[in-house]
Amino acid sequence: MGLFDKKSCAFCGASVGLLGGLSGENLAGGAYMCGDCRKKCIPAGDLNFSAMTVDTAKTLIAVAEANKKKGASEFHATRQFSSGMYADMPALDVDEGHGWFMNAAKKDGWVYALDDIYTFCLDVTTAPLAEGENYSLNLHPYPQLPVCPSGQKVIDAKLKLWLLDNELGVDILEISLIPAFSPSEEHVQSAYACAQDFYSFMKSRRMAQKQRSGR
Ligand SMILES: [Zn+2]
Repeated sequence: MGLFDKKSCAFCGASVGLLGGLSGENLAGGAYMCGDCRKKCIPAGDLNFSAMTVDTAKTLIAVAEANKKKGASEFHATRQFSSGMYADMPALDVDEGHGWFMNAAKKDGWVYALDDIYTFCLDVTTAPLAEGENYSLNLHPYPQLPVCPSGQKVIDAKLKLWLLDNELGVDILEISLIPAFSPSEEHVQSAYACAQDFYSFMKSRRMAQKQRSGR
């Protein structure tokens, strides 16, 4: 095969030139998957395409399509977590009936199971205050959440969810709860309130599950 040979996608048949090839994937045995078909695949970031057969990739696409279909037709959000008091920052949409959730920040349509969350935390990044800068953030109502050391300010706050083995192959979701650009104290307060809401929700859900299983 020469450098300028055109390839065609093993899934949709689209022919791909050199540029189009950048967003696609080379599979095992010289097969090729175009960028559009790559987007239909499950969202896991660590897929090893070069070792993957066309049949394996087809299975991944089928799983992904079934998941998205479930999201579009069966998912009904009964609870929404958002850090939206001072900015439009949706975090999670939850379907309590099915025990499912979606990443509302990303709006990517993937459905995850609440039971697949094995641990979670609010991950906070801080930086020193500038000279003369005042910071009067009141985080006392949130004893479970990270403290902001004195002389520092919160510059980033993400809700991190670690997932058990799941059909989408996603290990971790990181959901930003404050705007990336110069977050105010109000943004941080709003992020903490949102994280606290989610902590309380998960706690009561787990307690209810324990009671049901008689432990
Ligand atoms: Zn394709």
